[in-house]
Amino acid sequence: MAMEIGMPEFVIETPSIVTLPIAGTDAVFPVRRVYCIGRNYAAHTVEMGGDPNREAPFFFQKNPDNLDPSGEFPYPPHSADVHHEVEMAVALQTGGKNIPLGKALEHVFGYGVSIDMTRRDLQGEAKKLGRPWEIGKAFERSAPIGTIRATTEIGHPDHGRIELRVNGEVRQEGDLNQMIWKVPEMISHLSEYFELAPGDVILSGTPSGVGPVARGDRMEASIEAIGSIAVDVV
Ligand code: MN
Repeated sequence: MAMEIGMPEFVIETPSIVTLPIAGTDAVFPVRRVYCIGRNYAAHTVEMGGDPNREAPFFFQKNPDNLDPSGEFPYPPHSADVHHEVEMAVALQTGGKNIPLGKALEHVFGYGVSIDMTRRDLQGEAKKLGRPWEIGKAFERSAPIGTIRATTEIGHPDHGRIELRVNGEVRQEGDLNQMIWKVPEMISHLSEYFELAPGDVILSGTPSGVGPVARGDRMEASIEAIGSIAVDVV
């Protein structure tokens, strides 16, 4: 087959673009980067041993292909303490640097329900040693996620129940209105340090109640006004 003019010949198998399903359409959302917010709910900061009055939230990253809409979470190697963290995902349609608070929401395409799966034992060692967090956070399929709901459909939810159940039992519960950095603040803060772009996804932090899962468990994560996902630990 003839190549399009200007299309380079790749010397190896080309990595695929990660895409997320969008509710109500066959079109998909292409992912560029994944930013994650740590300690964005006071009660979770306290359960992790921090003081929400003294520490601001902060950022780390996962990889685009860590996002996984399959509904299955394979228990990862080298950990005996893998935790769930239910989080609202914010999917950006446009980006930029130094985005003012008042313009931030214009950059959002839509929202989804995700789980920031964490090898807590490896993250704990990394913290103790002052090392980066990737080994605890950015492993294969570490971010189960559901369909993206467009803002044209649901607007910009800034309150509503966020919950995670394991085998039917509520483990995490909170409200989006408990976030320390609201969505416009996350976007504005991030854009001061990174140039945001279309396809960037922000996982907005987790309420309290994080805890371990085991093979055979079913996680059900839900956010009022967005939806829910069911994920089997295999
Ligand atoms: Mn998290």
